Amino acid sequence: MRIPRLAIRAIRRITRHHAASATWRWTLAVLTPIVTLAIFGFTLDAGHEQVRRAARQRLVIGEAVLRSAVERYRYLPGVLALDTEVRILLDAVDDPVRVAAVNTKFETIARASGVAAIYLLDRDGLTRSASNWNEELSFVGTSYAYRPYFTEAVATGASRYFGVGTTTNRPGLFIGKAVPMPGGGIAGIVVVKVDLEGLQREWRQAGEYVLVSDASGVVFLASEPAWKYRPFRPLTEADTARIREARQYGDSDLRPLLSEQADGGTIELPEGERTISGVVERTAMPDLGWTLWYIAETDAALRQALLAALAAGISSLALAFALAAASQRRQRLRSEQAMRLTLERRVAERTADLSTANARLRDEIAERERATAALRATQDELIHAGRLAALGQISTAINHEINQPLAALRTFLSSSSIFLERGDTATVGRNLKRMTEVTQRIAEIIRHLKVFARKTGPEHWEPVRLGTAAAAALDLLASRIRAESVQVTCTIPPEATVRAEPIRLEQVILNLMVNALDAMRDTPERRLDLTASREESSSWRLRVADSGSGISEEHMPHLFDPFFTTKAAGEGLGLGLSLSALIVRDFGGSLTAGNGTDGAVLTLVLPAVEA
Ligand code: ADP
Repeated sequence: MRIPRLAIRAIRRITRHHAASATWRWTLAVLTPIVTLAIFGFTLDAGHEQVRRAARQRLVIGEAVLRSAVERYRYLPGVLALDTEVRILLDAVDDPVRVAAVNTKFETIARASGVAAIYLLDRDGLTRSASNWNEELSFVGTSYAYRPYFTEAVATGASRYFGVGTTTNRPGLFIGKAVPMPGGGIAGIVVVKVDLEGLQREWRQAGEYVLVSDASGVVFLASEPAWKYRPFRPLTEADTARIREARQYGDSDLRPLLSEQADGGTIELPEGERTISGVVERTAMPDLGWTLWYIAETDAALRQALLAALAAGISSLALAFALAAASQRRQRLRSEQAMRLTLERRVAERTADLSTANARLRDEIAERERATAALRATQDELIHAGRLAALGQISTAINHEINQPLAALRTFLSSSSIFLERGDTATVGRNLKRMTEVTQRIAEIIRHLKVFARKTGPEHWEPVRLGTAAAAALDLLASRIRAESVQVTCTIPPEATVRAEPIRLEQVILNLMVNALDAMRDTPERRLDLTASREESSSWRLRVADSGSGISEEHMPHLFDPFFTTKAAGEGLGLGLSLSALIVRDFGGSLTAGNGTDGAVLTLVLPAVEA
């Protein structure tokens, strides 16, 4: 069937896409055609039952109509058999006057009652008078002695027989009644032929399929002319011979309608080109020896059943779709839930990993902070040591710077005692005043040294004037500058202020100056230039230029390496520039080296602070 196949294909398509379980697929594939077939069968049965019920009702009506058509003329032959004129005629069958009288009578009655023919047979079966006496196919003079309606009436007094007229070739119901002789015996037979063709016409016009068969099963009345004079099933040889002999159905070949007898079920009968199929209902009319058949078509019921099956098929397909969709949705929810759980688990795992990594990172940070602090402390120590080393380097100059006022003090002391002996108190007073100034100078130098030698750190950062720092460094080197006849020019604007730690800044400038002085030791003309200029807006640049030997290309890359020195042992440690660079980097600035027109140029860049 087409519908179940479609259903299976549709179900397979849904289920294949969504990987539903095979059980589902099979359940749906099997259920859909079963439901469709069951609905088809059920509806068809119900439809057939309804058709059958209607057929039974029609059959009751049909039987009543047929019976009334037959019974209407039942008494007519009997009445005519009692007629005096009929009896008189049978006494003198050759009397033309009597024959004419009966002929006229029969003709009048036949016309009035609507029967096909009325005629009178003598005791030998010869027609003596007939209602159609003046027609071309008149029965008068014809012998019907071989016809069963004659023989039976002779035998029993009355007969009823359906057959095709041998003279007219028209079918009819022959009702015979014997005319008794006063002394016993039979004088003749009155026969009334009833035409039932009208009945068939009515059935045809009503679109009904009705058949009437005789005791042998031969159909003799039917709504379809082609069905007439044919038995339902093949006749026995005896029946065939009997019917032929009596010429009951004319020249009919008695070809059976069905190969098998339909019995209360369905029947298929040929109707012209097509075949009528329907349920068949029948009722026996035993008094006549007939059977009335009513066939009701089942096409409508079949169509209805097909429609119902189609609807059921579509419904079960829709149900299949709905179920598949629901199961698919359930599956999707399940997989989503599984995914969510997996995700949550992974997130938890990752969170744990992250927490561990975080803790590890915190430990590392702490460790790094500790290391940085240690490094910082070491650097501080180193810078401090470097400063002390620088102090050592210039100790001769400092020594000289202190010895000079001490010598002056001694000179003032000895001259003062002489002026005191002379009583020149005014000069002694002037000397005392100058001695005080000298001691103040000594105290100042010592204070400066104390401050310079102090340990410092980043906590002392503050705005420092570049000029002040340079002056302090120059102050420590003053005696050496004087002794070596160095021409110093210091061009530093008073507003040049940077953010730094003052002592370390002084240490850096001191280092640069010492290096410059060292480089100019063998030069005839010694010039030291300190120039500060604004570098962009955010910093100050301090150039320390000398007229010394300059820096060779080969030394340039190693200048800031720790322990790099070109100086003789005991003169330099090679730490000055590396520590200076460290300090400057710490301030957020930079220290670079290069050569100017006639010596080295060391450039210091530091973040500016508004003065
Ligand atoms: P040190 O002064 O103890 O040698 P530094 O780190 O201060 O150590 O200097 C390293 C080297 O850089 C010096 O030995 C010298 O060769 C070179 N240098 C530094 N400043 C100058 C300069 N102004 N002119 C020429 N060479 C210099």
